[in-house]
Amino acid sequence: VIEIRNLHKSYGTLEVLKGVDITAPAGHVVSMIGSSGSGKSTLLRCCNLLEDSQQGDVIFEGEPVRWKGKGLDRRPADAKQVTRIRTNLAMVFQQFNLWAHMTILQNVMERPVTVLGRPRAEVEAKAREYLAKVGIGDKADAWPAQLSGGQQQRAAIARALCMEPRALLFDEPTSALDPELEQEVVRVIKDLAEEGRTMIIVTHDMRMAHDVADHVVFLHKGLIEEQGPPAELFGNPKSERLRQFLSHSA
Ligand code: ATP
Ligand code: MG
Repeated sequence: VIEIRNLHKSYGTLEVLKGVDITAPAGHVVSMIGSSGSGKSTLLRCCNLLEDSQQGDVIFEGEPVRWKGKGLDRRPADAKQVTRIRTNLAMVFQQFNLWAHMTILQNVMERPVTVLGRPRAEVEAKAREYLAKVGIGDKADAWPAQLSGGQQQRAAIARALCMEPRALLFDEPTSALDPELEQEVVRVIKDLAEEGRTMIIVTHDMRMAHDVADHVVFLHKGLIEEQGPPAELFGNPKSERLRQFLSHSA
């Protein structure tokens, strides 16, 4: 579904991504791990074109993003293509970013109605379905502030699902949560993986990275240092840096 080839990204003179390749085929889950500052969030943001990049390809469903300009001036050339990609790659952040002045149901319904122009009644039925699916069907009329962190994150996941995206991008979805609340979010993500959803998940939670992924990528200073199936990457890490990283995050 989503493919990144030889991607380079700098902020001014700071080169953050130095030629990264990553592929999330349909139905596959890719976990991305790595130290703070290694470029994980930047890479996710490049996937859905929230960030520009200077070199390399972003390919969505076999369709490469068309660019205009070069180097630091490179931008996507086709706004419609950007919208199509962005609405099909739903992002879930560490801070759930629910709209405080809307109920949970309104939060979930907002973008399908305003961005996709879907009929309200149809969206409401879907929204209630997704809220039930993540286990907070009874919270539809609550305000975000009335929910626990784990419930808010599950609402954010329902909101992403309600866009019926082709893939989901998670940026540390459990990092802001207490350990006991973390597990309820991990459960939802595992269910999505079992359903065959295409996902890229950046996480500090090595157990989740191991359990949900088909493929794990270890990013180090803007380059992929090692990648492979979870059992190999965690069970038999080859690079010294990965071994070090894993011993610190156990
Ligand atoms: P963490 O695990 O802490 O979330 P990360 O792997 O997600 O780290 P990024 O957020 O992608 O790392 O940041 C990679 C590098 O890019 C860091 O050195 C960071 O300071 C820098 N960076 C990120 N965003 C910007 C920005 N908007 N402007 C300038 N530099 C940035
Ligand atoms: Mg990050």
